[in-house]
Amino acid sequence: MVQLGLVGQGIGASLTPAMQEREGRWNGLDLHYRLLDAEQLGVTAADLPQLLLWARRLGYAGLNVTHPFKQAVVPLLDEVSPDAADLGAVNTVVFRDGRALGHNTDWSGYGRAFSAALPDAVHDRAVLVGAGGAGSAVGYALLHGGSEHVAVVDSDRERAAACAARLADRFGSGRVSATTDLRGALAGASGVVNATPLGMHGHPGASVPVDLLREDLWVCDVVYFPLETELVAAARARGCRVLPGGGMAVHQAVGAFELFTGLAADAGRVEQHFLELTGARRPTSTATPTAAPAAS
Ligand code: NAD
Repeated sequence: MVQLGLVGQGIGASLTPAMQEREGRWNGLDLHYRLLDAEQLGVTAADLPQLLLWARRLGYAGLNVTHPFKQAVVPLLDEVSPDAADLGAVNTVVFRDGRALGHNTDWSGYGRAFSAALPDAVHDRAVLVGAGGAGSAVGYALLHGGSEHVAVVDSDRERAAACAARLADRFGSGRVSATTDLRGALAGASGVVNATPLGMHGHPGASVPVDLLREDLWVCDVVYFPLETELVAAARARGCRVLPGGGMAVHQAVGAFELFTGLAADAGRVEQHFLELTGARRPTSTATPTAAPAAS
């Protein structure tokens, strides 16, 4: 039996248990995945050491970690992968041989989704809007994958500067900058990624004004509730190639499954299941229109 869980706040609608359990069954595993909802359990960051201890004692093979604990969990682990250490954030903890090992499959998941959907764009200059946890992971993936330059924009200047500085430490200051000039940054770029919550259910709007979208821009979103955000819809209407947020969600789960189990996941099969769960009908990674998914 493989027991896994997700620790975080506001995770009631997470599709991760269903994706992990289905992929486990396909691989012949008796895999169980439990939501450990911080609000329901009364867990705060101060409780994380105890939570990790008890997960190990109860025989968990690993945990996914999400908002607001991805940074707080890092110092509690026995070992952290170099990329997760660069990002200062862990979303996957594997318990093995009495040790807790931290990984980050957000960046690798976005990177896999991006290079699969837009393989000719991996060296492009890009604009990243949103410099929080998701934005840092996206920036890391873009630069790791070969982007010539990433311009980081955030309504909070200090967050943009901090994100750019962290990425510059890893990839060099010539390849990343922070700016408040979204229009100017887009003029010199081939693509843009929304890594703000705008477009999510409850957060209407788009972080990139429609009039700044050009047909030759590729446009990615990390928001996936709904898959068809205002930005994705506007970009499709403008004729841009798009990658909705489902790609990152699917591939971070694939990466975590592989770390937890040591088995290869079938990304196409996980994506198909994700689309069934969201009510979408077409692949998350094409430039063709998708049906708006049902709210989770
Ligand atoms: P966060 O709060 O840490 O960061 C969001 C950032 O966006 C903040 O720095 C904020 O200042 C900035 N921002 C907000 N509105 C802005 C605007 N109009 N213009 C510029 N900057 C703006 O949040 P996060 O954890 O990084 O998550 C962001 C989104 O990514 C959420 O919707 C989350 O659900 C999604 N997400 C998706 C995946 C996936 O697998 N697809 C993974 C992680 C997060």
